[in-house]
Amino acid sequence: MNVPLLDLKAQYATIKDEIDPAMQAVMDSQYFINGPEVKELERRVAEYSQCAAAVGVSSGTDALLCSLMTLGIGPGDEVITTPYTFFATAGSIWRSGARPVFVDIEPDTFNIDPAKIASAVTNKTKAIMPVHLFGQMADMDAICAVARDRGLFVIEDAAQAIGATTKGRKAGSIGTVGCFSFFPSKNLGGMGDGGMVTTQDADLADRLAQCRNHGSEPKYYHKWVGANFRLDTLQAAGLIVKLRHLDDWSASRRANAARYNELFADVEEVVTPTVRGDNVMIYNQYVIRIPRRDALQAFLTDSSIGSAIYYPLSLHEQECFSPLGYSRGDFPESERAAGETIALPIYPELTDEQILHVASKVKEFLAT
Ligand SMILES: *Cc1c(COP(=O)(O)O)cnc(C)c1O
Repeated sequence: MNVPLLDLKAQYATIKDEIDPAMQAVMDSQYFINGPEVKELERRVAEYSQCAAAVGVSSGTDALLCSLMTLGIGPGDEVITTPYTFFATAGSIWRSGARPVFVDIEPDTFNIDPAKIASAVTNKTKAIMPVHLFGQMADMDAICAVARDRGLFVIEDAAQAIGATTKGRKAGSIGTVGCFSFFPSKNLGGMGDGGMVTTQDADLADRLAQCRNHGSEPKYYHKWVGANFRLDTLQAAGLIVKLRHLDDWSASRRANAARYNELFADVEEVVTPTVRGDNVMIYNQYVIRIPRRDALQAFLTDSSIGSAIYYPLSLHEQECFSPLGYSRGDFPESERAAGETIALPIYPELTDEQILHVASKVKEFLAT
């Protein structure tokens, strides 16, 4: 049996008769930039995410960079974030000209440890950028308390967490801004690159929209320098269709996770994901800890089972960030997670047979 890590063709088969006409309508209109679908998607994502406004952008990475630029964060500033995340989180801080300052993670949720944030704040700190990793929100109450005390912005990297909640509040609705990605492998994935910034501040939304279009307002008049961070009309049209299915897909991912948890309940070597009582997780990834992780991945690959390592090297150890002066040992929980975790297939269209097969292959490996 073949079990890929993700099967986008299986998903497309279930919505082809909705997606194709939506894309064709944009082709017929030839309205590729700032078409009405972009505004429509913004309205729907804002509503879905319990936010006052949303601004479509070209990717999750650009959602982060556009937010940093619009908030006036740049050279001489520091932004606190986690070393255990996709590269774009710290990469966008670096590209803004600011300095990424890392804080270690909680070993159970893999999210930034709020208890360690306050001691990383300096008089240069401008923002905290928590990541809602794998689809579970970081401890926003604790993070926002530190930010409020020190007058810092909170930029939620919600790229993996659209629809996730903590105490009933949606990802992207609590910080100064929320940054989403529509990369095809996210729970709400486009037909290419795309992203969104959400906020409760209508004035900030206007400035984000200016930044997205070279800081232009009115057209051809520039008070400040933005960039081309626009979302394509074609992407928006497809995403409007997919958003209608998002809650069903995320519920299927949760059910699949519950099934794995049950199958691994009696397996001592497997540490299944911890979800805090206040949180609803959307399982963009189902990530376990396990001994001999790399050997397990080779075994799964040989058994035609997809898996991935998110992430094999913490960001403070990346070569490009060596000027920041960090070294191995600085963030032990992040480093340990990088060596012990593996993501198993969790996509909504998985069959029970496939889940059983994956779990039994993991157990077979542990018995070797
Ligand atoms: C995917 C992702 C991004 C970047 O999104 P893109 O749309 O690929 O640019 C940023 N942060 C995290 C945590 C992500 O998972």
